[in-house]
Amino acid sequence: MAETLQIDRIRCDGHGLCAELLPELISLDDWGFPIIKAGTLPPSLVEHARRAVDACPVLALRLASMTPVTQRH
Ligand code: SF4
Repeated sequence: MAETLQIDRIRCDGHGLCAELLPELISLDDWGFPIIKAGTLPPSLVEHARRAVDACPVLALRLASMTPVTQRH
């Protein structure tokens, strides 16, 4: 199942550790807060993303599964 990386901007204290661990998907703004590339995680980066989630000192990052939209008839 496709996953996305999400950030809780209230919790994040902007130290930028996640951007160091996952520069392919996370950059920092002028104040040091992360900007996450939109879209689902490429499978090759899922393990790196998990490491970034685990390393966040304030638990502001999480991986979320994209639930497929089902059609109703
Ligand atoms: S590691 Fe966590 S607290 Fe630090 S910038 Fe990334 S999301 Fe924010």
